[in-house]
This record gives sequence, structure tokens and C-alpha cells, in this order.
Amino acid sequence: MNTAAHLPKAHRIADVIAHPITAKLTRPTSTSWGTYTEVSIVIVEVRTETGIVGVGETLARFGPKAYAEVIERLLKPRLVGQNACNIAALWESMRKALSGRSGGMLIEAIAGVDIALWDILGKVAGLPISTLLGGAGRTEVPCYAASVNWVDEGEATEELQTYMERGFTRVKVKLAGPVPEAVKRVEAMRAVAGDGISLCVDCNWAFKLDEAIRVGHALAANGYAWFEEPLKPEDEDGYETLSKRVDVPLAAGESNYTLDQAKRLVSSRTLSVLQPDVARSGGISETRRMVEFARAHDVEYAAHIGMSGIICETASVHLAAAMPNAREMECETDFGPFKTELADLSPGCVRMKDGMLSVPAKPGLGLELDWDAVARMRSA
Ligand SMILES: [Mg+2]
Repeated sequence: MNTAAHLPKAHRIADVIAHPITAKLTRPTSTSWGTYTEVSIVIVEVRTETGIVGVGETLARFGPKAYAEVIERLLKPRLVGQNACNIAALWESMRKALSGRSGGMLIEAIAGVDIALWDILGKVAGLPISTLLGGAGRTEVPCYAASVNWVDEGEATEELQTYMERGFTRVKVKLAGPVPEAVKRVEAMRAVAGDGISLCVDCNWAFKLDEAIRVGHALAANGYAWFEEPLKPEDEDGYETLSKRVDVPLAAGESNYTLDQAKRLVSSRTLSVLQPDVARSGGISETRRMVEFARAHDVEYAAHIGMSGIICETASVHLAAAMPNAREMECETDFGPFKTELADLSPGCVRMKDGMLSVPAKPGLGLELDWDAVARMRSA
């Protein structure tokens, strides 16, 4: 039987364009690392000879032009002329360009291309990415507010109250040392929130193991939902010890670039919640591998989208809609210009309503970027 007529037409890649963009945050974000006032991402545009345009996002944060260079000089030559629908083959080809580098900005660069290829595949198939991924049947995904900043207690209280007034029932609080101050913040936020609000904390690697144990006891005593990145990501021994010593679920994953880097803490069930960022962890392809591995070990998935843009958030909604172990996802509601100004101008972008993000129903990612807005935001 001649099946050629049933095979998809080759949608050969004609061009790959990286758009580095930068914007001032609507309000600064403060973590244990410091205070940030502006942020960058790279939007990746992949065009096919058949006229389809896919978009993706690379998590850059800083130095976006360096990422654009990697995408256009290192990855593009491996992509042009190839069938955009053969995503797994293209992912492996891009990965092979990175010999000797197991993570870092190069995997983040692949992420932007990979998301754009999934956008193209969805447009070719006429299906939303969530359906291509298997479709768990969700039409919306719960999200939590990120974050109450590591600022003085009065300001932190105001931030928490504002989130609660806006209807969030799940809120993340930034935490840092010294330990007595962290414990005081844990107790103060619970006192303000009462018992009806789910609270979690994000420490951005602020503690050493002995400190994290003391903070963890306070979190358990105050009913916190999870203890995010208390230790640096390389300290896997520390995470394993911590999980045995404290009675609060551990969460991490935004600093893991690939499944290989998350495997140990998932397979040992040290983590209760895995938080890969689709714009960092090799795109939809690798993030899906991480989330499915987590599912096999009864570890939940909560997408990380901090300081990123609307494409990352939309791709994460598709993933969360399709993955049965998706729990809830991060939502920055008021300080991401790539999620507010750009999203306002770009039809189809997901927007938070009543603590929920709706799953786009259009083919691919289901959004149309405003390219004029992208041009206005171009990094200097
Ligand atoms: Mg975090």
C-alpha cells in the first residue's frame, strides 16, 4: 500500500531568528540573591518554507544577546533545511552541538527552539499542544501567586494581603537568612494568611543544611505546602538528608536543565514537587521527559515560570494541562512586562482569572505575538 499520501508534507525550516528583549519590571523582585529591576528573555522565531511560523522562548534573564548568538550561530545551521516536525531528531542534533556542556545557557537556547517547533507541529496538525501531548482533558490549570518578596515585614505583609484580596488562595513567600529572621517571617506570614490560605516558601539556595533543618521545622509547624530550593542544587546529599530530617515537602527543579540532572532527587523521592522551567529545561520535549519521570515516582509537577515571558507561561499551561501529575503552576501577576504589556497586545495569551489559567484551544501554543511590541522591547 502506498502510504505516502498520508504522510505529513515536509515543513522544511527556512529560518531561525532570535529576538533578545529586555524590560523594566513593574516592581522590583527581591530574593536571597538581591533585587532585580529589569529582566531579559529571547523570543525564538522559526519559519518554515511552507509559511508556518512557530515561536518559542529562551530563559535568559541577563545577557540576552549572548543567547541569541548561540541560537543563530550554533543551532540554526543544524535546523535550516530540516523537517520542523521531526522534533525529537532535531533535539538530539542540537544537543550534539553542545559536546562538553551538560547544562547552562546552551540547553536554555535549545528550549526556545524546541518550544517553537512544538508550536509549528501544532499548527501543522491543527491541534493545541496540550492535545498533542496526550491531553489530560483539563480546560484550566490552578496557579499560585509568586511571590511575596524578601523585603521588610511590613511590606511583605502588604504584599501578602494584596494577593489575598485579589482572590489567590495559594501564595509563595521568598525567604532568606539569618535563620531567626526566616523563622519569624514564616510565622508572621501564617498569622496574616490564617489557615485558609496555602503558603509555600522559596529560598533560592539561601541556607546550609543545618540552617535549612531549623527553618524546615518552622515550616512544618506552620503548615507550609513546600520548602523550595533551600540548598544549592548541587548539594544532592544535603537534600536527601534534609528530606529525612524535616516534615515539610521539598520542591526544586528550576535549576535542573535536563532529566539527568533531576533524576537522583526524583528517583529517591527526596523531592515531593518537581519544578522545571520549560524555557530553561530544553523546552517542551525535555521538560515532558522530566515530568513523566516524576510521575513514575509519584512526584508532582509545578511549572516554574519566574521572571520569564508569556510564551514560557503559555507552553507551561499546555504541559500542565496534559500531565496527570501537574499540581499547580507559578503565576507572576503584576511585575512581568513580558506577561502584561506584551500579553495585552498579543491575542490568545493566557491570563490569570480567579486563580486559574485557561488552556488555549487554538492550534500550537494558540497565541499571536505582537511583533511591534517585540521590536520596541529589543535589548540595547
Ligand atoms: Mg524558585
